[in-house]
Amino acid sequence: MKRAIFCIIAGWLLLLILIGFSSCADSFNGNVSDEDDGSSTVDTIPPAAVSDLTIISVGCDSVSVEWTPTEDSEIYALRYDTVNFDESGWQTAQIFSDAIPVDAETMSITIRSLTSETYYCFAVKGADSLENWSELSNVVCCSTLVQDTSDTMTLPVDTIPPADVDLDVVEGFFSLPQISFVAPEDSGGLSSVIVQVSSESADFVHYDSIIIAPVESGNEYNIQISADLYSFGLVNYVRAYAVDLEGNRGDFSEVVAFAHRYQIVNSSCINCGRCYSACPNDAISYNSSTGSYVIDVYACIGCGDCVSVCPRSAIDKYVKKL
Ligand code: SF4
Ligand code: SF4
Repeated sequence: MKRAIFCIIAGWLLLLILIGFSSCADSFNGNVSDEDDGSSTVDTIPPAAVSDLTIISVGCDSVSVEWTPTEDSEIYALRYDTVNFDESGWQTAQIFSDAIPVDAETMSITIRSLTSETYYCFAVKGADSLENWSELSNVVCCSTLVQDTSDTMTLPVDTIPPADVDLDVVEGFFSLPQISFVAPEDSGGLSSVIVQVSSESADFVHYDSIIIAPVESGNEYNIQISADLYSFGLVNYVRAYAVDLEGNRGDFSEVVAFAHRYQIVNSSCINCGRCYSACPNDAISYNSSTGSYVIDVYACIGCGDCVSVCPRSAIDKYVKKL
């Protein structure tokens, strides 16, 4: 009997020690946070990619670059190569540093011991405290100066920015919005086109960036905007600018407003009127001259109630410029 009681007490003690060890381990693990509902989450969202990396000076054996650190970033990696590169070329690019601490609102770094009269391209990636690494920044390129050129020469060779981007939004029955543009001309060649997307206001106080690189002047690009970069049912705004290989930045394009909402596919509609009755925002009306129901894209809030009652699957997502 005593032995049984001893075993039960020992078992409980062991269990208490294990529970204590488990909670200690959690408290030491910086990647885990406890939510109010008792669940634990791990931050896996990286900082946004830098979109304003710029060459600010070129010497015969050095190049200085600067950029604005994006929110949440704590360190930056800076790499370079003697050819233009993208995400796939990042791994083989020369490492300048993989741990530059963010210590200023504008980061300025000088890369020294370069070879004179040589073409170099530079890019950065940022990481938060949990080492979630961002996507690649815009890539900037230049050629170092000849050996006997004064080291105090600090202006980039090409200071002329690219032309403006002629940005457009493609209208139609698409499940995701698409933008289109022809890459503008630049005397020294383009590095990238940066598209900013805001679902708040045309002032772009908050926005997400899409970096399209590499790009070539005169080529047409159609880029899909992923669902996490805009708001379905709301008015969204896009604008873009081009960056050349020396980091000169063009002006912003015109702002294009668009909404991704619902429209009736007339060929499938049988005019039963169920969508009209279901709409909570009076966005659907009957057009007696055409004998069909129509959705007012400005009044539609994208709730989807009409979609769920339609017997012919005649209502689909539509991208409309506003
Ligand atoms: S999505 Fe909602 S608001 Fe828009 S037309 Fe359909 S029911 Fe009306
Ligand atoms: S519910 Fe569908 S089929 Fe009926 S009127 Fe609306 S879109 Fe047409």
